[in-house]
Amino acid sequence: MRTFEDTYRHKGLRKKLVDLLQSKGITDERVLTAINTVPRHFFLDSAFDKVAYEDRAFPIAQQQTISQPYTVAYQSQLLDINPFDKVLEIGTGSAYQACVLGEMKAQVFTIERQKMLFDLNKQFALLKKYPNIKCFFGDGFEGLPTYAPFDKVIITAAAPFVPQKLVDQMKVGGRMVIPLGEGAVQKMKRLTKLADGSLHEEVFDNFSFVPMLEGKNN
Ligand code: SAH
Repeated sequence: MRTFEDTYRHKGLRKKLVDLLQSKGITDERVLTAINTVPRHFFLDSAFDKVAYEDRAFPIAQQQTISQPYTVAYQSQLLDINPFDKVLEIGTGSAYQACVLGEMKAQVFTIERQKMLFDLNKQFALLKKYPNIKCFFGDGFEGLPTYAPFDKVIITAAAPFVPQKLVDQMKVGGRMVIPLGEGAVQKMKRLTKLADGSLHEEVFDNFSFVPMLEGKNN
């Protein structure tokens, strides 16, 4: 069961979370404002209501997780979102990251490989508030060639390698934020596509994501 009531208590906890993210080094005001606005407790079972604004990942259906707020803020900041940016997200999961980007006025195209999570999001009332977010059921390794090219690509699962099809779907000057690595820990990287199609790589902190898997799961 989920509850969709946003009380003063929730708003207060959200503000405290934003203060915490700032103290951890998140400076992008667009990101902080979005996190202060999106009611994270809507994305979790009501059993998690008391802890929804702790800076932790939580389980959702199908052994998947809603990312830690710090991770969501960190990836969003690296993306450097401008209004109307076309953003491809791999791994919709709870759709929290998608809503943070949607709140920042990006045009979000998000793909989930688990049918059950995709179906849950189809019924999720909050997503109706964001006509700029489009959800797709599919394999993120394939991307969305029909909607390419994208300004930004964000991968929210541990990628074993940089998927070339996703690079092909980026604009020149476009950026991909990707947790890269097959072990328990991944390196967050930001790849910028240059005019000759090659990638300029920047390396950031370590994170731990659930794996990016090939194919769909019906
Ligand atoms: N962005 C999410 C985090 C979800 S966890 C959030 O804000 O809650 C990672 C998600 O990526 C899981 O739901 C998992 O099923 C999905 N995933 C893993 N590999 C994928 C792939 N190849 N294509 C699409 N989604 C994938």
